[in-house]
Amino acid sequence: MHLGMSERVERYRERFAAFLADEVAPLEEDLARADVGTPFNPRLDEAGRMHPAVWEARREAQRRSAAAGLYAPHVGPDAFTRPEMQHVEEFVYRHAGLGLGLAALAWTEGPNAAIEHAGAEARERWVEPLERAEITAAFANTEPSAGTDVLAITTRARREGTDWILDGHKAWITNAHFCDVIQVTAVTEPGAGTRSLTMFLVDATAPGVTRGRDIPTMLDDGLTGELHFDGVRIPAEHVVGEPGDGFALAMTWINWRRLIRGGMCAGWGSWLLERAVDRARTRTSGGRPIAELQVIAHMLADIDADVYSARAASLQIQADLEALPGGPYAIPLDPAAPRLLSLIKVINDEGFFRVADRAMQIHGGTGLRRGSPEEKLFRVARNLRIPAGTDEIQRNAIARGLLR
Ligand SMILES: Cc1cc2nc3c(=O)[nH]c(=O)nc-3n(C[C@H](O)[C@H](O)[C@H](O)COP(=O)(O)OP(=O)(O)OC[C@H]3O[C@@H](n4cnc5c(N)ncnc54)[C@H](O)[C@@H]3O)c2cc1C
Repeated sequence: MHLGMSERVERYRERFAAFLADEVAPLEEDLARADVGTPFNPRLDEAGRMHPAVWEARREAQRRSAAAGLYAPHVGPDAFTRPEMQHVEEFVYRHAGLGLGLAALAWTEGPNAAIEHAGAEARERWVEPLERAEITAAFANTEPSAGTDVLAITTRARREGTDWILDGHKAWITNAHFCDVIQVTAVTEPGAGTRSLTMFLVDATAPGVTRGRDIPTMLDDGLTGELHFDGVRIPAEHVVGEPGDGFALAMTWINWRRLIRGGMCAGWGSWLLERAVDRARTRTSGGRPIAELQVIAHMLADIDADVYSARAASLQIQADLEALPGGPYAIPLDPAAPRLLSLIKVINDEGFFRVADRAMQIHGGTGLRRGSPEEKLFRVARNLRIPAGTDEIQRNAIARGLLR
């Protein structure tokens, strides 16, 4: 089984390392001088949103990355396979850590597998500029009264001539404050079950679109907010795929986020492990390094076991998904895929949560210091277990796959 460490991945990693040093480091220095925080610990503006200067530094890193051909290796005709992407993602998360460099690999504000189903006009207007990092996107599915239960959303779109008219309210949306284009799911055929939803591309500056308040979360990044749609007119060409494809497309987007966990948790997990080993060697208690205490050495071993097993399982699963007809983003999805997608998410999210907890414990009070990598990644790790499907929902899908 080929697990993705190809020559083009090695080249990508070398080029990304050089990009971090040559292009990102100067931007980080400018940001430090501006004293507005960092992408993961930004100062917030008066509305609770990420400070605009931090957002702009991220955007500049993205534009430079796109110009260097590094921003979106997961889409396009030469897209990397998922095992290849895991190696890319692990490298980026390990080496960018919590710095500006993480923005240089497209995250949820970039192009994604779902938006790739847009038609020719929408591709030119939205998708290609997203791939060039000229604009950013948000995915708006969750609502105040419906998260896990995607088919219970109430945002509606009705036809008027060839156009659609959109009304509703979305919440918990990453990049609600800054996005240029919104991938919105809405009910277009009530009662039609998994065919009841349609995905639309909506201009965030269109009449009737209002950006709501920031929803402060434990991530403290000032990026999560609400969006209101009040009679927003959408031309037929801005339907993604076909009317009725919305549920499948929403799952495509969500599954993309699940798959990313493999490289993210391996990258951040090995960073935390290296920092914990360092700390255990240098911090002393009773005149001896705490690494000599078996209780600490065992915590290091447990972190190693979690990182290694999650990385290995994820690579195998990504390869298994690629081998299914149509791969991980097929519509319709192969019946064997949902279990595999959920295995990746739950193995990584729960493993990384244990890793972040133990890393913090080894660091003692220093690990609790606001803004330290251990403190921040502990909060990130706790967060991961909810968005893109909770731990419980992953178990539902795994069990359904086993029992089908
Ligand atoms: C920081 C952050 C960023 C986010 N970004 C986005 C975004 O960009 N776009 C977007 O659309 N959404 C986004 N979300 C929303 C996120 O996807 C939802 O929070 C998530 O899907 C869970 O939904 P919920 O919060 O409504 O929880 P609920 O659905 O209310 O679940 C509550 C509890 O009930 C359990 N539960 C519910 N149903 C079942 C079931 N059938 N079986 C077993 N257990 C069940 C859940 O596991 C959970 O423990 C974001 C959320 C956060 C916190």
